[in-house]
Amino acid sequence: MFVACPEDKMIYSLYLDQELNGTQKKKFEQHTQNCKKCQKELEALKLLQQQTQKSFQLFHYYSQNGCQSQKILTKILGLSKEKIPQS
Ligand SMILES: [Zn+2]
Repeated sequence: MFVACPEDKMIYSLYLDQELNGTQKKKFEQHTQNCKKCQKELEALKLLQQQTQKSFQLFHYYSQNGCQSQKILTKILGLSKEKIPQS
């Protein structure tokens, strides 16, 4: 049985944040297993989230060590932009 792709893109990040309820999650997983488009969408978002998390950790680290935060943040965001795969 094929269910249409979720119209609300929020569902992808909710899923990654483990914030879907049991039924929603099951439905979404069943759909995603058979849908290349959603698999790609999910994979890209996962990477993005990991990258964002890493950036924030780095930012915290640098600001705690007394670096100039504005400069560092720009640098980090510049770096992370490069690593996000373009689809
Ligand atoms: Zn789909």
